[in-house]
Amino acid sequence: MDGREDAPAIGIDLGTTYSCVAVWKHDRVKIIPNDRGNRTTPSCVAFVDSERFIGDDAKSQGAMNPANTIYDTKRLIGRRFSDSKVQDAMKLWPFKVIQGPADTPKIVVSYKGKQKEFLAEEISSMILVKMKETAESYLGKPVKNAVITVPAYFNDSQRQATKDAGAIAGLNVIRIINEPTAAAIAYGLDNKSDINGKINVLVFDLGGGTFDVSILTITKGDTFQVKAVGGDTHLGGEDFDNRMVEHCDITGNKRALVRLRCACEKAKRILSCNTQTSIDLDCLHEGIDFCMKFSRAKFEELNMGSFNKCIETVEACLRDAKMKKSCVHEVILVGGSSRIPKIQSMLQQLFDMKVLSKSTNPDEAVAYGAAIMADKLSSNSNKSFKDLLLLDVNPLSLGVEIKGELFSVVIPRNTPIPTKKSKTYVTCNDNQSAACTKVYQGERAKSTDNHFLGKFTISGIPPAPKEAIEITECFEIDANGILTVTSQILSTGKTEKLTVVNENGRLSKEEIEKMIEDADKYKQEDQEYKKKADAFNALEDCIYNMKKMEHVIADATKWIEDNQNATVDEIERMKEHLESMCMPKF
Ligand code: AMP
Repeated sequence: MDGREDAPAIGIDLGTTYSCVAVWKHDRVKIIPNDRGNRTTPSCVAFVDSERFIGDDAKSQGAMNPANTIYDTKRLIGRRFSDSKVQDAMKLWPFKVIQGPADTPKIVVSYKGKQKEFLAEEISSMILVKMKETAESYLGKPVKNAVITVPAYFNDSQRQATKDAGAIAGLNVIRIINEPTAAAIAYGLDNKSDINGKINVLVFDLGGGTFDVSILTITKGDTFQVKAVGGDTHLGGEDFDNRMVEHCDITGNKRALVRLRCACEKAKRILSCNTQTSIDLDCLHEGIDFCMKFSRAKFEELNMGSFNKCIETVEACLRDAKMKKSCVHEVILVGGSSRIPKIQSMLQQLFDMKVLSKSTNPDEAVAYGAAIMADKLSSNSNKSFKDLLLLDVNPLSLGVEIKGELFSVVIPRNTPIPTKKSKTYVTCNDNQSAACTKVYQGERAKSTDNHFLGKFTISGIPPAPKEAIEITECFEIDANGILTVTSQILSTGKTEKLTVVNENGRLSKEEIEKMIEDADKYKQEDQEYKKKADAFNALEDCIYNMKKMEHVIADATKWIEDNQNATVDEIERMKEHLESMCMPKF
């Protein structure tokens, strides 16, 4: 017994704009609504002088407090500050991001009158805590174990950082799985009885901030073999909103921009059903109203570049999977932005008018699949998933830098994981005593054009002429898609492991522990604040009731003056009424 027998495991879709939590209970997946009754929760955290808000409460006060309302952390997580994608995104954020140690981005907010800096992992952990608490209040017991989903195209640092966010939130992340794979699991389970033998599915997952394509073969509804993945971790609904904002061409303060962006997002959703809408905002800037008609055609024209990019990515993914488009049996739409009619029609055209599968809810399919996986992996697993088998791939090639800043691939992209592959290299110089391994991830020929994951040095190479000593680089990817690299000097057997962690801005165990402590502190502060606010409310209620009593007493006094001829019954009823008004209310 490990104490996990009765511990439920949850599935969390940690989205760029919205997050969703689900659990397997009573032989079905339950999407758990939050305290507002919403099945998805905005991935948003806000700080004010007295309090911290997470989810719907944070989002709804965003226009009043733009500099301290943080969203989009999924676009920051696991990236470096100098990353061009971070620099571009920063231009549109109303909150401040600065360069921290090791080029890590830090979000700066004002909280309780003081300036505070947070890592993307910490903000994400706050959203995860909210999802955890949502599940706990539904299940009526503490939750520890969770499967968290990430875009298939997330690199190693982004996966590691998401796992760290889970740890800071006090979760035991039992598995990180890819979002499209989770959606395919949801689809496979829902359509199990119709799947005879093998079918090929393409999951088209276009969310708020990320775009993912995966091609999978599903066998008998319970073996999921990923054939290829592709995508862009910086393409999604928010880019479409940005283009609408740019088109509106207004200069204004942060508050005006937040209001305009919100209105554009709403208009975009309307344009998925209607061909025409308008954006109307009273007193948007310096007292001037804003009003603009927006047609679906204009929206499509503004975003055609991105839509074409999506289709090109689907085509590239088919090539990687070595699959003809006619061999794809189903196209599954996932993510809120997959509702855009132009995208659907372009996909239909590509797949020769095949009907797109909308049987899975695009906002919930990922959490749904994650909940199934969580149950499968937890010790109290339901036996119906005992045959569920997930065979995923690594999304981007992994390798080392060799002479001339060239990138030498050790594990090519779309290799099934878990996997372990080695490649042997020779020394470059005479009597070389140490060798530095620089690990990169990506598809470019020049190492530095790829994503740098980290470096480490192996020393103690015995003296020898150049090219005489062989060093093996062993790359191992676990089921979470997380990498370990080991160098070995073949002649001596000496090994060295990748210590990419801190150099690349990844958190150390101590740092995570410190953040867990901080997270507890913030939670306690939230609770104390709530207690204090509740106490103030009760006191104010009491004063209000007492003030009301002034009227009651005045009315009763007047009643006596006006009713000198009243009967004993009437006088006693008046007394009872007065006493009932004075009684404490429960
Ligand atoms: P997700 O990350 O899957 O929650 O997707 C959220 C994104 O989907 C946001 O950018 C939303 O604006 C967008 N979205 C949601 N519903 C629609 C819709 N009906 N039409 C267009 N975009 C939508």
